[in-house]
Amino acid sequence: MRLLVRGHGLAGEPRLRSAIAGLAGRGHRVAVVGADPEPGCESIAEREVAAGAWEGVIGAGAVTGIAALGRRAAVRAMVVAADAAVLARMGWADRMAWTSLTAFVLIDESDATAARDGAHGVPLEHFVLWPGGTPSEGPATTRPETEMVERAAERALARSLGPAPRAALFVDRDGTLIVEHGYLGDPAGVELLPGVAQALREARTAGHPVVVISNQAGVGRGRFSLADAYAVMAELRRRLRAAGVELDSVRFCPHAPEDGCHCRKPGTLLFERAAEDLQIHLPHSFMVGDKQLDAEAGRRAGMVGAIVASGYGGEEPGVPPLTPPALRSPDLLSAVRGFLAREEARVIG
Ligand SMILES: [Mg+2]
Repeated sequence: MRLLVRGHGLAGEPRLRSAIAGLAGRGHRVAVVGADPEPGCESIAEREVAAGAWEGVIGAGAVTGIAALGRRAAVRAMVVAADAAVLARMGWADRMAWTSLTAFVLIDESDATAARDGAHGVPLEHFVLWPGGTPSEGPATTRPETEMVERAAERALARSLGPAPRAALFVDRDGTLIVEHGYLGDPAGVELLPGVAQALREARTAGHPVVVISNQAGVGRGRFSLADAYAVMAELRRRLRAAGVELDSVRFCPHAPEDGCHCRKPGTLLFERAAEDLQIHLPHSFMVGDKQLDAEAGRRAGMVGAIVASGYGGEEPGVPPLTPPALRSPDLLSAVRGFLAREEARVIG
């Protein structure tokens, strides 16, 4: 995502500042207006915001100022940290501001009643409860507040496009988007495969969100840390952004196969969560990967799954081919063009 942050009001919101640093660490482009930038963020003058291609605005406290900055930058979505006092002293201008953009509101658990009693035009399901009052421990990318703000921003952006669910392109990472190295915990090893940026650009131009779903058992097996896994994903985001592609969401399972989780492909939990967060219609969506389990995960989630010839190319020792066999494509670009042709035929048809 490309996010603007209104610096005014951030000083008293350490959790939000921690989350903003975490978003930058996860590879989002984050620019702070009117305050010192958090680590990894850019600093930008207010007069320059209209010239940037921003998608959402984040801020704390007075919603009129945050929404005004968002409108100046022509964004559609905002995430605001507010408390009971802010909600209690809402005037007509605040109410207009809340509804001028698609808003998600971060509110302390202790203020939940205030949200319920006065949602002020913001749907109740757009409120997110912050647990605790101080930033969590550990690297900013791995903290719960980062996850919450990232999800809130994704949800706000998806809903700002309207209520209709969309067909998404789900893609595996290793061997499908980037060269398969086996247990990649170092961002320096990120190497985009040929045609990948073009494929993702075509999918997004046609209106389909692009969601990465990846098994990162290297975390569960102790080969690298959770922060390393986020650093590699961040590098992927930055490489693709340099090629003109923004990823709509990146999700990964950090568990080992023997952990018995439901998020590891061919489990479908990450697909279901992404569908809820991004308003995705799974039956019309498409999953592409380089292993049988990628196609199988897509199939279990109710969509078409395809296997590309890059990476493992669907050839894994001891893993029998699916019955009936998955679709095969020489590369991601051909797979995506097949998906787009099918979608076009369905919509027109
Ligand atoms: Mg793979």
